[in-house]
This record gives sequence, structure tokens and C-alpha cells, in this order.
Amino acid sequence: VTEKVHGCVLCDGPGGRVVRTAARWRVVHVTEPGFPAYYRVIWHTHLPEFTQLSRDERIECLDVVAAIEQAMLRELQPAKVNLASFGNRVAHLHWHVIGRFAWDSHYPEAVWGAKQREASPDRLADIAQRLSGLEARLLVELQRFT
Ligand SMILES: [Zn+2]
Repeated sequence: VTEKVHGCVLCDGPGGRVVRTAARWRVVHVTEPGFPAYYRVIWHTHLPEFTQLSRDERIECLDVVAAIEQAMLRELQPAKVNLASFGNRVAHLHWHVIGRFAWDSHYPEAVWGAKQREASPDRLADIAQRLSGLEARLLVELQRFT
């Protein structure tokens, strides 16, 4: 049971390629040029703030974020995994989980920051190719959530 807000991009649509849907959230892969290892955890209910979730819900939400981070660390060996939750433009609770590489176009800046260099297309393609392995591992990790 979710309350949808018309005109909210995350109520009106999935918000990316759906990797896994559970009762209270979904994990999607986000198509963002230059950042192939980009996932979001989107809470189904339209709520802006993390503390509007119950404590159990907050734990579940961050467990899902952590599962994505761990799958990334194991499968992609990024320089860093970035976690972020803003909701300034889309006030619908979602967490960004972004694998970052020392060679990516913005590292060490945030992906929303200033561009530092051109990323190698070959390296980007290599990461994109490894996402299926990451997602297979992630689905196993997320099996315990209904
Ligand atoms: Zn919404």
C-alpha cells in the first residue's frame, strides 16, 4: 500500500531499471553517462525525510544500501562508494549508491561537482560489463527481504 503523489517522478515511474522490488522499496540501476555503477534505493511511499520511516524501516533501508555497497566493493573494486540522500528536487526518499573510480570524470569531486577529466570509454565499458555479476550477487544478498 503506497501513497502516490501525482507529478512526482518516483511515484509516477520506477526511476530507473528495476533490479529488485520488495514490499517497501525497490533497487534500480540509473543510466548516468560516465557513471555506470550507479544505483538507487527508492522507498515506495512518498516521504521526504529519512526519519519519517519507523526505526525498523530505517534499518531495512540502510541494510539494502549496505548490500549494494558490498556487492560493488567485491565485484568492481571501486576507489570509493558514495552514498547520498538529498531529495531537494525530488522529495521522495531515495538513496544514491555510486561506485567511484580514481579515473572517472569527476573523481575526487562529487558526481554533481566539477568535471576533472575525460573518462576512458574502455574503462567505462569494462565496469558496465561487470554489473550483471554485481546484480547477481546483490539479488542473493537481498533474498531475505520480502
Ligand atoms: Zn513520490
